[in-house]
Amino acid sequence: MSWQNTFRDILELDRPLAPLTTFQVGGWAAYFLRPRSAAEVGEVLKVLAGEEQVFRLIGGGANVLVEDGCHQRPFLHLDRLSTVQWHEDGQLIVDAGYPFLKLVSETVRQGWRGLQGLAGIPGQMGGICAMNAGGRWGEIKDVISWVEVATSKGEVKRMPREACGFAYRSSQIPGVITRVCLQLDKEGDLGRLKQEMAACLKVKGASQPLKLPSGGCCFANPPGLSVGQIVDELGLKGMRHGNAMISEIHGNFIVNLGQARFDHVLFLMKQIEGAVLDATGHVLRRELQLWQR
Ligand SMILES: Cc1cc2nc3c(=O)[nH]c(=O)nc-3n(C[C@H](O)[C@H](O)[C@H](O)COP(=O)(O)OP(=O)(O)OC[C@H]3O[C@@H](n4cnc5c(N)ncnc54)[C@H](O)[C@@H]3O)c2cc1C
Repeated sequence: MSWQNTFRDILELDRPLAPLTTFQVGGWAAYFLRPRSAAEVGEVLKVLAGEEQVFRLIGGGANVLVEDGCHQRPFLHLDRLSTVQWHEDGQLIVDAGYPFLKLVSETVRQGWRGLQGLAGIPGQMGGICAMNAGGRWGEIKDVISWVEVATSKGEVKRMPREACGFAYRSSQIPGVITRVCLQLDKEGDLGRLKQEMAACLKVKGASQPLKLPSGGCCFANPPGLSVGQIVDELGLKGMRHGNAMISEIHGNFIVNLGQARFDHVLFLMKQIEGAVLDATGHVLRRELQLWQR
């Protein structure tokens, strides 16, 4: 039990996980670590690696479905890494734990162009970067200059964007992201920038079930196809299992009607996978990450 002793200052026991996720589903972490700096993240990773501990890293919890019950593997959460450095030339150095929704509205309010088309995407800066979050108006990789990562050797190093392996809703960043450097542009017309953000939020408000807890899209869209549209055409919208339901608004979302369990959501995901495979021959890739004990 030595790593628990080494990090007792930053260790919480039996931390409930559902409140840390947008789905509001899941059990609790027996061991929950909240490092205070990038260097401390590196120390944690090194010690955990030395003791062959496999950990989970939870950001804003907007892309994960957590199993019920007690998770024994250590959880890391970077909410204490939460500052932003603003530079005159539009360079922003953002800690991994910084809330992304807040960052987007702050940059737009201050007249910086670059994040307005990513408005409404929940998560923390680290998770947004790891998932290369985005949509019809672009992806986070478009404005990233470099990413700082802590490794299991205890190092903290910078990686240029080109080395991050960004692809559709994924990246190949080897380690825990501790900071991200964004390059934004000064916008002369503040009204136009605000309008662009409002237009983006309006589309999301009309097309996504934002009044109920969910984990966003469950599946990545196969090239040229929309999972939401296929689910709609297959008549699966509104299907319920336990307290989970395939959204009536967007067929790629499953919503929590209250007290939904991991198994309820998983059942519906499997229904979609099977029906889409039968109808189109496509094996869907899960975008939502399922975290089993
Ligand atoms: C209502 C709703 C709407 C959404 N709309 C969109 C959308 O339009 N576009 C889109 O792309 N996504 C969307 N999503 C999904 C979600 O917002 C993104 O996937 C986001 O990137 C998740 O960030 P997070 O911090 O919550 O990551 P988490 O869900 O906490 O984690 C996701 C993955 O990232 C890893 N991770 C987290 N932090 C770090 C870090 N510091 N270093 C390395 N890895 C890390 C985790 O270990 C995990 O593997 C939506 C979700 C919801 C609930």
